[in-house]
Amino acid sequence: MRANLEDTFRHKGLRKEMVDTLKKKGITSDKVLQVMNEIPRHYFLDTAYDIYAYEQRAFPITADQTLSHPYTVAYQTQLLDIQPFNKVLEIGTGSGYQATVLAGLKAFVYTIERQKELYDETIKQFPFKAKYPNIKFFFGDGFKGLPTFAPFDKIIITAAAPIVPTDLLDQLKSGGQMVIPVNVENDNSKQLMKRITKVDEGLFDEEIFGEFQFVPMLTGVNKT
Ligand code: SAH
Repeated sequence: MRANLEDTFRHKGLRKEMVDTLKKKGITSDKVLQVMNEIPRHYFLDTAYDIYAYEQRAFPITADQTLSHPYTVAYQTQLLDIQPFNKVLEIGTGSGYQATVLAGLKAFVYTIERQKELYDETIKQFPFKAKYPNIKFFFGDGFKGLPTFAPFDKIIITAAAPIVPTDLLDQLKSGGQMVIPVNVENDNSKQLMKRITKVDEGLFDEEIFGEFQFVPMLTGVNKT
């Protein structure tokens, strides 16, 4: 993958249009809209998608994975209600775009990817090493989370989860929240977005939002 790291007036214009569309589609958080207007999404995609990067669609990235639809990124980020200095765990680094949006909201981001090839490429090409030192990248299985760095204020899963992983619930702070797309029963092709709040140790509250589509959350790591 090779991205075009020039942010032209055309890119900026297209990005503004993307954000206006997100607003029309119901995204209300000014902070989220502003950060998505600042971060060049085309930096996270191959030059082949350069000017298409701002369309309302998901895009292919390395290892048959995808950079989520802009509405999905905005929706999950808005549900997480990021506050400055929140410690956030992301499962499914992919291109690193979602992690950058979280970092733009001044969170301390810990992000995990299970595909080695994609992980290597993303850390090598990450365009904002100096601007966003508040992102730490990990290669591993997101089902296990990062017990050494727990607890987290927020956890976001950006792949279709078969279940809500208990290890991740354990790694949430009391009062913390997890946003996770969980497979609809008997139909792995779509997911219901859930926000789970850890009210207290062992006590959880679950809210259900709309239907979304993600690539699957898989167990273990893929080392090639
Ligand atoms: N957030 C990404 C998009 C993610 S696509 C972005 O902004 O580009 C989902 C990603 O989750 C894929 O890269 C996939 O390899 C990864 N994934 C799937 N199961 C995982 C697991 N158990 N642990 C870590 N990452 C996982």
